[in-house]
Amino acid sequence: MSAVRRVKRPPKLAVWKFSSCDGCQLSLLDCEDELLSLAGEIEIAYFLEASSATTRGPYDLSLVEGSITTAEDAERIKKVRRESRRLVTIGACATAGGIQALKNFADVDGFISAVYASPEFVSTLSTSTAISKHVPVDFELRGCPIDKHQLLEVVNAFVHGRRPKIASTSVCTECKLRGTVCVMVAHGTPCLGPVTHAGCGALCPAYNRGCYGCFGPKETPNTVSLTRELKVLGMSDKNVDRVFRTFNVEAFDEVRDG
Ligand code: SF4
Ligand code: SF4
Repeated sequence: MSAVRRVKRPPKLAVWKFSSCDGCQLSLLDCEDELLSLAGEIEIAYFLEASSATTRGPYDLSLVEGSITTAEDAERIKKVRRESRRLVTIGACATAGGIQALKNFADVDGFISAVYASPEFVSTLSTSTAISKHVPVDFELRGCPIDKHQLLEVVNAFVHGRRPKIASTSVCTECKLRGTVCVMVAHGTPCLGPVTHAGCGALCPAYNRGCYGCFGPKETPNTVSLTRELKVLGMSDKNVDRVFRTFNVEAFDEVRDG
């Protein structure tokens, strides 16, 4: 009897969308040349933004964009989790609820009646929450949108069974690494860089603008100290609240309360 040689199949990648703008999925498409090399190593089994052709699960790696804002989403993410060996959330919506989490601090029914002509057709939860509030997550990649180089590192790492090498320092560290003059010290421009997760390469300070926190909070951010400094620079309590309450409102609110 001849021996049957088993052909090793490439890992299967799936990309899922929940409540989001699609920008993080576009970051994956934006990888262009790198995506072609990646496609040689993995099977892109489910990625509706790229192709309507899909392959059934289970999947070796799922990338999840978007937050949970409906009862259907809350059920669907459990199914995605069951079908995924590893699950990575990408972007501010999936890791922190996104800008739509502003509704967590407001009267949702009031908004719905003010915005929609037929509010009875709108079905939504009163909150927008991160994926990790619903199912276990293997890694969270921050950013609004995510950085494509970090995304490639994460996919590469999981495909090869290692932890991704993603720095957990602040945007300030990236400012120093690229030799950018601190806009807060030099010009008194309010900047969330000291408490914001690295990843963008300190893009805004490089163009003389303060960071507004689109990569969400870094590990153990000292928001008390930064709030004090923002007030020294002339910001009112209301404006400090506003600057923290944007794309990563829920995540910043948690660390500010803590
Ligand atoms: S400009 Fe902002 S991010 Fe850069 S060093 Fe100053 S405070 Fe930090
Ligand atoms: S500097 Fe701040 S606001 Fe600007 S891209 Fe980076 S994380 Fe986002």
